[in-house]
Order: sequence, then C-alpha cells, then structure tokens
Amino acid sequence: MRNRDVAEMLERAGRILSLRGENRYRIRAYQKAARAVVSLDEGIDVVVKEKRLQQLEGVGSALAEKIQEIVETGTLSMLERIETVSLPPTKMNRTILLASALTFSTELLPQLVALPGVTQVQVVGEARRRRETVTGLEFALAVSDMAEAKESLGAHKHLHSCRWEDNKCFTVHSFGIEITFHLVVEECFVQTLWQTTGSVTHVQKMAMIIKEKTGQQIMKVPGQSNALQLLSEEELYALANLPLIAPELREDGGEIEAAQAGQLPLLVDAADYKGDLHIHTDWSDGAASMKKMVEAAVELGYEYVAITDHSRSLKIAKGLSLERLSQQQAFIKSLQDKYNIRIFSGIEVDILDDGSIDAPNEVLANLDVVIASVHSAFRQSRAKMTTRICRAMQNPYVQILGHATGRLLGKREPYEVDMAEVLRVAAMTGTSLEINSSPDRLDINDSVARRAKDAGIAVAINTDAHSQLELANMLLGLAMARRGWLEKKDVLNTSSAQDILAILQKKRRKH
Ligand SMILES: [Zn+2]
Ligand SMILES: [Zn+2]
Repeated sequence: MRNRDVAEMLERAGRILSLRGENRYRIRAYQKAARAVVSLDEGIDVVVKEKRLQQLEGVGSALAEKIQEIVETGTLSMLERIETVSLPPTKMNRTILLASALTFSTELLPQLVALPGVTQVQVVGEARRRRETVTGLEFALAVSDMAEAKESLGAHKHLHSCRWEDNKCFTVHSFGIEITFHLVVEECFVQTLWQTTGSVTHVQKMAMIIKEKTGQQIMKVPGQSNALQLLSEEELYALANLPLIAPELREDGGEIEAAQAGQLPLLVDAADYKGDLHIHTDWSDGAASMKKMVEAAVELGYEYVAITDHSRSLKIAKGLSLERLSQQQAFIKSLQDKYNIRIFSGIEVDILDDGSIDAPNEVLANLDVVIASVHSAFRQSRAKMTTRICRAMQNPYVQILGHATGRLLGKREPYEVDMAEVLRVAAMTGTSLEINSSPDRLDINDSVARRAKDAGIAVAINTDAHSQLELANMLLGLAMARRGWLEKKDVLNTSSAQDILAILQKKRRKH
C-alpha cells in the first residue's frame, strides 16, 4: 500500500469516529497519524518492517498497531467491528461535520445504487445544501421495483431498526448516523430530489409560485402519482420562469426574490480556484516538507501556493524565529526554479493579546502573504477582543485576517467579538477575511461571508493544510463561500498568479 492510501484510511477512521461522537483526542490522534504517514520520505512498509512506527510524530503504541495492521492486511478491523455494533440512540451524535457527512455518503452511495430494485441515488437534505453541520443524512432513491427495493434496503447489514412511513424509511447506520431514505418511482425522482433537498420554506414558496403560474401541484402527494415527468431541476424552476437555484442557496434567504429580479449570483466554482494562500510545512507545525506540499499543490493544478508557517510566539506550534523565517524565505527562492508554480513566501502571524503583531513591519514587508490570526487569550472581553482584532487589521502589512471567530465546531465556541465592527474595519483598511476550510473551523461561516461580500471585502478561501491530504478541504471552504452567495470576483484566490500579488500589495501601497 502507498503511504497515501494508508493515510487516507487513517483519516477515514478519524471521520467515522467523529460520526459516532467519539472522544475528540482519539479522533485527533488518527488525523495526526494520517498527517505523519502521508508526509513520510520513505515507504511506510519499510518503517513497519524496521519497527520504527513509534518514532513518527504523534504515533503511540495503539496507533502503531493500527498502522501495522493496515499495511499488512489492507484493512482496519476496528472499522469492521464498529460496523457490526450499533449505537444506542442516546449515544447518537447530533452534530455531524459536513466533511464527515460527505465522506460517509460518498462511501454509501455505490452500495445503495447496487441494491436490487434501485436505479438512481442522490444525497439530499442538509448535506446537499452543504450546511456546516448536519443532523442526519437523507438520500433520494429512484426505484424500478418498490417492493424489491424496500426489501433490499431493509436487509442491508448496517442499517438498523428501519421504520417505514409509506415509501420513506427512517433508519440508523452502524456508524451511529440517522439516515432517511426517500423511495420513489422513476417518474417522480426529480420532484422528490428537489423536495427533499429543501429547505422546507424554499420548497413551499416555490411550490406556491409554480401553482400560481401553471396551476400545477408540484409537491408530491403520498401514494398518488402526480408526476410532471421532469427530467431535471432546471425544468422545475423553469415552470416558474426562473433559472436553476443552486442547492447551497435554497435557504429562503432571498434567493427566490433575487432569481425573480434576475440578480441571482453566479456562484464561485472549483474551476475558478487558483491557489491556496494558507498552508503549513514542517518548518513549523505542518507534517510535510515544503517540497511535498508544493508538489501536492502542483498536482492540484494550482497557479500558486503561499507558505504561511507560524510566527515566533506560538511556541506549541514551533513558530519560526525571525532568523528561521529569513532562512525559510531563502529556501523558498531556491525551490522556485524547480517547480512550475509560484511559491509565495508568507506567514501566519499571531495577533498578540493587545492587538500588536508578532513580527516587525520590516520583516513583514519582505513577505508576499501576511495572514494574522488569534491563537491565544481567547477569553478576553468582547470589547477587548474587538479592539485587538481591529488594531491588527490597521497594520498595513496584514492582508488577511485568519479564522476570524476562532470557533471549533462541536468543541469551542467562537470568542466574543463584535463582527459588525470587524467587518467595518476590514472594509475600511482593505483587509481580506479568510474562509478557513478546516472541517471543524469553517470560519468565517456562510452568513459572515455574505456580510463581508456586501461590505465589499474580498474573501480568501484557504485550507490551513498541515499535510498534503488537507489541501482537498478547499471544497468545504468553497461550499461555505457558495452558501454565502460569493461570486468569482468576491474571492481573492480566483485571481491569477500575476494579478494576486498586485492585489495583495494594494494595502501596503496606500501607506
Ligand atoms: Zn491559525
Ligand atoms: Zn494556520
């Protein structure tokens, strides 16, 4: 097995444990092990053979055993064990991270499509709308034979205590996640797909508009075939003379009115994304070498990547001294010629307790990308925290405010801060806000992103990756941006390598 396959299996194990609401230190241990394995300079099989697993960062005896098992057998029996033991309802996890929900549904989808009597399957509900956390998963299933499909679903070994209401099945998967299946004959699939994607208020409003315009009842009445034979959701919106409204927007947040006015945003798309502006390497607390991170960015087809390791005060994350930082800049220059990607020098600099910045301006002036973030003294009063962050943004060299609220979903509440004031000062100073794409951050969230856009603030979608695997989290940040109505022009890292430096330099030049 390749290191990457082993790492992916460890990461998957971590996500599945998080689905079950397991101890977060245990989940974290798996993520750390995944990072360590994917960033190794040698084959993991060699490390296993030479019994050196426990020398890896963050790998203790328990995880060493698991890694060895994966390498030697290609499987992880712990996962198989979990699959056969169902959780009592009281222990079920009610806050499922979007990342875990998507990982899980990607794995379940092919199993569902393969069931006898089932012809088509789609993820619907909150996960399709890409909400930051979901309370359960929903799937719409088109069936060719209802009785057969019901039977095969009921017989799935990991779906427990199926409760049927007409053609709707409520069940619990062995991983401890609630799933609702909406079974429907093929002619009704598009209607059901749309209706179960929601949100409820969006669907109700649209149904009323379609009723008024066409006299047709779009909502499916149970047990009654009133199919309109729609082939796509586009056709459904066309009944109301509207363009397709993307699932991420269907929250009754003004999207129907915007569509009627011809002002629906043209949402930013993965193809627009040109490069990551926030990643860590093993110069600070990242797991992988700079070379490995740069190569992973090249593989993703990016035009640029910014190396933004931690600053000197963040000792627990091996923050760089000024001397190390300047060595790093030299190293970046030496790498540049070897790769067909722009490597920006940068830093994630701490915002100290009083709002001052953890590096002198002369040093920041030599860096391409400066992100400033709060990593300490989270419990300051609202007034103090607001002043602190706003003071940091006044610094002409701070281009991006990192993870602006400091929240960790399900673990740490956001710190007290006056977001309206933060947005005002960001707009005034020309500072960008980051959507941090870490699965448990998603910070700023969709609603703040939308307020930022309305205030004319550019938003950067960054991963804060600490290993190659995490660069893929960009898709989560992108989902938040889309939910926040962001278009290509609102997102900083949709600019080309040529343009972005000029954009980033703008704030400095004003001073
Ligand atoms: Zn940070
Ligand atoms: Zn970071």
